Amino acid sequence: MAELKVTAIREGTVIDHIPAGKGLKVIEILRLNRPNGGVLLLASNVHSGKLGRKDIVKIEGKFLSEEEVNKIALIAPTATVNIVRDYKVAEKFKVEIPDEITGILRCANPNCVSNHEYTVSKFYVVSREPLKVRCHYCERTMEEEEILRNL
Ligand SMILES: [Zn+2]
Repeated sequence: MAELKVTAIREGTVIDHIPAGKGLKVIEILRLNRPNGGVLLLASNVHSGKLGRKDIVKIEGKFLSEEEVNKIALIAPTATVNIVRDYKVAEKFKVEIPDEITGILRCANPNCVSNHEYTVSKFYVVSREPLKVRCHYCERTMEEEEILRNL
């Protein structure tokens, strides 16, 4: 398969270097699989020198919020975000897992206060590789599988 050009969209975002197989989850998290969520293209299992195989998600006409970028970092810590304007990459950055994750993740502990009151969830990242976070309220530790289910 030929390498796809990052700049094949006019205006929008290209999320590159997603580990192969995680592209669909990225789309799901961005809720782009709904109608009118933006024209979207998923290139799966593209050959990549760095990762072996990677997924690429292209979204025409959409730019990501900081919250969305943080969610992508949790799913695909190797991802690169390209902001495209007028067919050119106007900005490019690597996603980064923040030290603290607020609001975007639910605690897996059903008894946790953050699931019952008007509390914004808050987690501390205790390990990035493998991914592990700890709840500020109940101290429950969540690993990658659980994190992805609760995003
Ligand atoms: Zn908790």
